[in-house]
Amino acid sequence: MTTSPNNTEDVAWERFCGLMTVDLTAVGDNYRRLTSETRGREVAAVVKANAYGLGAARVAPALARAGARKFFVAQLDEGIALRPVLDAVQTGCDIFVLNGLVPGAAAEYPLHNLQPVLNSLGEVEAWQRFIADRKTPPPAALHIDTGMNRLGLSPRELDVLADTPERLRGVLLSYLLSHLACADELGEAKNTQQRIAFVAALRRLPAVPASLANSSGIFLGHDYHFDLARPGAALYGVNPTPSRPNPMLQVLRLQGKILQIREIDAPQTVGYGAAHRARGPMRVATVSVGYADGFFRALSNKAKAWIGDDMVPVVGRVSMDLITVDVTAAPPGVAVVGAWVDLLAPKDGLDSLAETAGTIGYEVLTALGPRYHRVYRDH
Ligand SMILES: *Cc1c(COP(=O)(O)O)cnc(C)c1O
Repeated sequence: MTTSPNNTEDVAWERFCGLMTVDLTAVGDNYRRLTSETRGREVAAVVKANAYGLGAARVAPALARAGARKFFVAQLDEGIALRPVLDAVQTGCDIFVLNGLVPGAAAEYPLHNLQPVLNSLGEVEAWQRFIADRKTPPPAALHIDTGMNRLGLSPRELDVLADTPERLRGVLLSYLLSHLACADELGEAKNTQQRIAFVAALRRLPAVPASLANSSGIFLGHDYHFDLARPGAALYGVNPTPSRPNPMLQVLRLQGKILQIREIDAPQTVGYGAAHRARGPMRVATVSVGYADGFFRALSNKAKAWIGDDMVPVVGRVSMDLITVDVTAAPPGVAVVGAWVDLLAPKDGLDSLAETAGTIGYEVLTALGPRYHRVYRDH
């Protein structure tokens, strides 16, 4: 028996490792949820890494329809690819490139209507040189490091810039931004320290709009919202408040399908390394997803899967293209060849799978890989 979910009737789904369903309506609802949290302060959408693996070409337009007008990518080429996608659905969107200026490529930013996020004095200098002979300077953002020690002007560089304002002469700054290191930890002193350092930095630089909060930062309170928040993960269903229930809607559904069923008995074993030993008669279903599809090997003998409402545990090692699940307890006729197996629990499945794998929802999303058939739902 072969079952096909009704949204894939005309797809030869047997060719794919599984089915990845992205709920664009939930993405839009999550965007609006964050907008209500910031009480009127603007909310951008971070769509770097192909919208956290979900597909920027579909996700970014959905966010624009929900009201987003500012978008952040990590790399220049991500911005170049995103520009026509956004222009096709919404005029006047700004795209910022977080990783800054690519050496020798300054001209490509205004050419594609992108803004670099300048991350060092060297980048400020290169940008100033580039715009010197242009009639109207294209805008850029400036990143101040307030304790992440990753990107942005260091405290020493900030001192230099504040003491020699001519370094910004002719530069049209759109935003001053900084990034929080511990925003997902409520009550963490570093959040307050970074906010105070950011406010102090803003006072020493030209008065332009400011941006600090990522997804979790939005939930630290209105003090953290400034003029623009920059959520990514929360838009895609990751819980921005890990110590509390998830305020976001789940966006992703992930399904593999049963390729074979084995009836085995003790003392047989399942999979590589004989890592699961049958204690008695059992039915094992082999499912079409593996670590090459982002179902991490660390989930071996640990993850849970679902057939309908029935939980079926993953047994044995996760291999490259396959997992094995114990379907002994599933009702007759349910765990059959061709049946779909859900790999995420209906609510908060993304975060719980990540936790089981010893990682975070961000990594689960960006690891999903190209072998799923992708379905986008907008209802
Ligand atoms: C990735 C990133 C964000 C978005 O972070 P989330 O935790 O996914 O909301 C915001 N700002 C910067 C600088 C980033 O690198």
